[in-house]
Amino acid sequence: MVSGDTMNKKTNNSQKKVAWVLILVFLIISTSVGGFFWIKYEIDKKNNNNNNNNQQEIEKEKAREVKRVKLIDEASLLVSGYFYQEAIDLLKSDADIYNDKMKSEVKKIEDFVAQLKPYTGRIEQVFFHSLIVYPELAFGATSSEPQGYNYWMTTELEFQRMLPLLMERGYVLVHITDLYDVDAQGNVTAKDLYLPQGKRPLLISVDNVGYPESRKKDGFASRLIIDEKNEISAVIRNLEGKEIVSRTAEVFPIVDDFVKEHPEFSYRGAKGMVGITGSWGVMGYDPKIAAEAAEAKKIANRMKEMGWVFVSHSYTHAGGIYFSENSTIAGIKEDTELFKKWIVPIIGDSNVFIAPFGVTLKGDLYQYFIDEGYTFYLNVDRRSQPKILGKSVLMPRINLDGFVMNRDKEYITQNFFDVDKVYDSRRPVFQ
Ligand SMILES: [Zn+2]
Repeated sequence: MVSGDTMNKKTNNSQKKVAWVLILVFLIISTSVGGFFWIKYEIDKKNNNNNNNNQQEIEKEKAREVKRVKLIDEASLLVSGYFYQEAIDLLKSDADIYNDKMKSEVKKIEDFVAQLKPYTGRIEQVFFHSLIVYPELAFGATSSEPQGYNYWMTTELEFQRMLPLLMERGYVLVHITDLYDVDAQGNVTAKDLYLPQGKRPLLISVDNVGYPESRKKDGFASRLIIDEKNEISAVIRNLEGKEIVSRTAEVFPIVDDFVKEHPEFSYRGAKGMVGITGSWGVMGYDPKIAAEAAEAKKIANRMKEMGWVFVSHSYTHAGGIYFSENSTIAGIKEDTELFKKWIVPIIGDSNVFIAPFGVTLKGDLYQYFIDEGYTFYLNVDRRSQPKILGKSVLMPRINLDGFVMNRDKEYITQNFFDVDKVYDSRRPVFQ
């Protein structure tokens, strides 16, 4: 019995031990498994976060790349318009996207600029009058001066044909201020102009930008306006006598649109000079009527923003004591005072004088214009080059009109464009 009891006790003890071991084993296993799943859960969570972070980073980088491409495009447009430093500044403008690719774009421009040399060739200046839009009127039976128009005017078609040909020859519109510096004492010095190889500067001016009644009925524009796109358009009477707004009825919108399409045709936004003849009005507005003067001033200001420069083409545009071989100091003084009184308040001060009929005044008469602040005196001459004379520059200009295309065809073809590709066959026979 005793031994039986002992046996039983022993058996009980070993069963307890086994149970404990089992519990222990169970605990170990469950802790390990739990731990494993917990660790796995944590790792997965982290991976998920990482994935999300990576995804976000990829999206951000994509957005940066889009910005880079956009800036590089904008910079290359600036470069084609000769705005080199502006292009570099733009590429560097956003630190968040500035990477090696952007650095190499900047370097490309810097290298390009470093090899530019100052321009040393001829400086050409061409000029126009308001364009003949309807040759059937300008040269027709009711025209006030068909012969004069055939000599001294350019048709809209010819002007449109010239621009791409001038560009092909490497011409780039510049301003006088790109070519000369004038200091506070009025001393003039030639300035270095850095153009890419094969490019050459071209100054253009348009004379007598007023639209008298006779011109309006002869197929020319009637006035300039600021159109609904805040650009300068011309208003013209069409063949039915109805006024229409046109982008092609005058030099200004044609050049504006051409430069927009071909930024390489304009050095840093330069367009041309607008020669105002006071007694003809200002771009179709009467300077002596306050409301019209205010309108003309608004248009002039907008045109200045767009790269046009306003200059004096005299008040009277008359011969005799004003602008001829018989000019007198009293005559040119009277003219200049009238221009100052009526026109300067609209167009602002200018240091450029376009001489009526291209007359080159001499001695005291020439000096009078310098003393009046007109540093640049523009005459007409097809061969000579600008000359610094004391505190002034005498600048020759060439008229690209019917007269010159007939009388100096070879020279024009050699230096500007093939006249045969430009000449308007609707012109009457030249004689
Ligand atoms: Zn004139």
